[in-house]
Formats: sequence, structure tokens, C-alpha cells
Amino acid sequence: MNYLSTRGSIKQAQSAEAIRTGIAPDGGLFTPESIPSLSQTEIQAMAGLGYQELATKILAMYLTDYQPSDLKGMTNAAYACPTKFGVPQVTPVVQLTEGDYLLELFHGPTCAFKDLALQLLPHLMTKAGEISGDHNKIIILVATSGDTGKAALEGFRDIPGTRIIVFYPEEGVSQIQKLQMTTQEGANTGVVSVKGNFDDAQNGVKAIFTDAAIVKELAVNGMSFSSANSINWGRLAPQIVYYFYGYLDLCRRGAVKPGRPINIAVPTGNFGNILAGYFAKEMGLPIARMICASNSNNVLTDFINTGVYDRNRTFYTTISPSMDILISSNLERLLFYLSNQDPKRVGEWMMELKFKGGYRVDRETELKMKAIFYGGFATENETKDTIGRVYRDHNYVMDPHTAVGKTISDRYRRETGDELPTLMVATASPFKFNRSVVQAILGETAVQDRSEFELVEKLKEISGREIPAGLRDLDRKEIRHRTVCSREEMPKVVKEILKL
Ligand SMILES: *Cc1c(COP(=O)(O)O)cnc(C)c1O
Repeated sequence: MNYLSTRGSIKQAQSAEAIRTGIAPDGGLFTPESIPSLSQTEIQAMAGLGYQELATKILAMYLTDYQPSDLKGMTNAAYACPTKFGVPQVTPVVQLTEGDYLLELFHGPTCAFKDLALQLLPHLMTKAGEISGDHNKIIILVATSGDTGKAALEGFRDIPGTRIIVFYPEEGVSQIQKLQMTTQEGANTGVVSVKGNFDDAQNGVKAIFTDAAIVKELAVNGMSFSSANSINWGRLAPQIVYYFYGYLDLCRRGAVKPGRPINIAVPTGNFGNILAGYFAKEMGLPIARMICASNSNNVLTDFINTGVYDRNRTFYTTISPSMDILISSNLERLLFYLSNQDPKRVGEWMMELKFKGGYRVDRETELKMKAIFYGGFATENETKDTIGRVYRDHNYVMDPHTAVGKTISDRYRRETGDELPTLMVATASPFKFNRSVVQAILGETAVQDRSEFELVEKLKEISGREIPAGLRDLDRKEIRHRTVCSREEMPKVVKEILKL
């Protein structure tokens, strides 16, 4: 399979190169030249496969320069139960009502769907080095506002040939998120607190990536940087798998007849998760409508409804923080396909976004998008109402991100009367966002003056679920990372950690 840059400079790359380098030299995203297509018979032939086997099969269609036997080893390691994922199905389906199903993507080590990609990416990346003859040690730098950093640390810990350093802002991560990172184990992990906010950490990391002196010093010492962020093809490809798994599970339980369509609902930020669903649909998986759910940062809702992308708007901090995003990077890949693979047009839109903060797509692209996607956003109150209502009606505790998806999925059904079964992706464990979840269910007095640890216990009572292994005993674990630095000191800290 051949990979292209969405902005046109690269016309021939293999998946290993795309994964090892992350982003194309022209700033575009690596994306497959064509999307493999499967018949309904071929899709049904995969029913009954375990998650690892299914992942191996789907990935082999995209990562054609990897040996299938290597992919098998990697998926077995990445999705092992119980060492990595808490349940053998990896992404189990839960029925909520007659036509509503949840695809739970939060049973990995850090309790959010990013584990599905970040458990596999380190294996793909080290193998990519071997395939392309690049034997440098891989140095991963991450700036995180919470979830991504921890998921990347867990993915890369003790993976030979890699070193990972995560910077998080001193102000802005929750007590639990901070402890998740400062207690991180693994001989190749580094965690540093930056005095400032997320932007300071992010700008600091970007500056290091492009610091010619450091890059050269790394090269001399047999090392090179890479990135684990969500525009890397190695993060997107593994996410296609669970849409197949979810659909086949619905067929198995008789909720949908083989070959008949379903809708999917995805709480969306950077457009990675829903784009993986688009790939599944284009491969032939019977998905009718893709419901793109946003929080108050509703830039995608407006884009789907009007064809105008406009990031010049207020940024809101919400109870679904992993969707607090105004630039949805992976949208670029969708536009590439919808514009019939026109890198010139995509490049122009991205330049307008960069310099003016927005762009309008042509009418044809807009109509194609509307035929596939339904966009909507949930306010904070609507999200909390949904958490409370779903708990009272179905005795199911949802995290705020998932509740945004459910809110918009319900609205879509009311507005259109579309009665197709819906698979909603559940992107995080409620235990990760215990304060807003307990507040939504029991009210403000239940959370007042309570520590996050008390609230985790409370949530255990309410939900009847066990506290996930990764969040248990956090307050008793040894703190292993104490480095604090300013934005200016970040390059020095990287060099110290790498012993340069
Ligand atoms: C990252 C994240 C999202 C958003 O996913 P995208 O791929 O960025 O659209 C939604 N929910 C949770 C819990 C997340 O961590």
C-alpha cells in the first residue's frame, strides 16, 4: 500500500516510513492512496475472530511492508489480557436500550480509548526502524494536558530502543492525572512538570523538535526524535479495528442482520476516532450515518452544518476536557478524500486555517460531507443531564465524553426519526472524571470538600464496578518523577535525561 502526503510533496511512501516520521515534510499527513475494500462475505468471514486476530487481519491490509507474523506478535503483546486490557474482548459491547449499544474503549491501562492506539504504536515504531534500516534509538517527546501523556508513557515503558519524556503543565492537570504520571514506572520513562500552562509545554516541545543543535547532537549519539501524537498514521490505523469488532458483535448477538446498516456516534476532538470509523465505512462496513458529537467547543458542528471552518471563537474549558480543541488536525485527511485527493486544494485550506483561522470548502465537498456526517454539540448542562438520566434509566454510569456522544445521538434520532441501531463509542472510564460524574448523579453537595480519592470510592458504590487497576492505590504509590522546570529550561532537561 502506497502512502501520500495530503499536501502533495510525497507521492510514494511505505507505512513504516509514515509511522517512523509521523508527519510529512510539507506539513501534510501521511494517508493511504486507496482504501482497501471488503465484500460483506469477507467481512462476515471475520466474525468470531478474537480482537488480536481481527487487528492483525485489518492492519495487514494497510501496513503491507510489515510481515503478517510480526503484526501478529505485536497485536498479541499490545492487547494482552489481563496484563494490558482488563477484559478478553478488549473492546466489549454493552446494550443500553433496544437500539442503543455502547462500544467500551476504556479497558486499557490508562482507562481511555487512546490506549487502543498507544499500546500498539511503540511496537509499530520500533519495527518501522528495522524495516527502513534506521537503527537510531527513538526519543519520544510529548506535551500533554492529561490523557495522552499517560497513555503514551504506558505504551512506551520498557520498549527496547525507545525513550519517552512527557511534559505536563504545573497548572491544569487533575490530582489523579498528575499522580498517574509522577508514579510512572519503567526504566526508559521521564516525566517533567513545566511551570506554566499547556501551551507553554506544547511550545517548548515544538521548539526542541526543530532545534537544529539538539537534533544534531542526538544524531551523533545514535538517537532521533519521533512523535506519538494523533496525526501519526500508526495511531489511526489501530482504531479502525474496533469498529469492525463492534459491528460483528452486534451481528453475533442478533441486534443487526449481517450486511444491514448501523449508525455510529463518536464524541470528537481531534477527529481521529471518528476518522477511523470513516475508514471502516469506506472499507465496506455497513455504517449509514456518522454522528460527530462535540462539546461547547463546537467548531466541527458548525463546519458540518455550513461548510465553513472557523477557529476564531472563544475556547471553553469543559467537563469533557479531551475534546476541548479548536483545531481538529485529522480533518485534513477527510478533506483529502472528499476533495477526490486534491492536495492543492487541501493545502490552500490549511494555509487559510493557519493564517486567517478558517476556510470554506467548495459546495461539492460540503455536500459529500453532509451526506455522511451529522454534527451536533452538547452544552455542559445537557451533558450532565445525560449522565444523570442514563444512570437513573439504565443503571449505567457514563463518563462526560461518552455522555456528549449519547446526547447528540438521541438528538439525531429525535430530529430525523432514523431508527437504525446505533453503536456509540464510550471513550473513557467514568472513574477518570469522578468529580463531574458523581456531581451529575448525586448533586453538588455530594462532591463538596471531597478529595478525588474519596470520590473514586463513591463512584465504585454508585456504579457497582471495580476501580480500574490503573487508578487503584494511586495515593499510596511511590512518586518517581519530581523534576520541575521552566519553559526555557526544557531543552536542558531533555539533554540531562538523555545524558548528552
Ligand atoms: C482524545 C479523546 C477524545 C477525542 O478523540 P479524537 O480522536 O481526538 O476525536 C474523546 N474522548 C476521550 C476520553 C479522549 O481521551
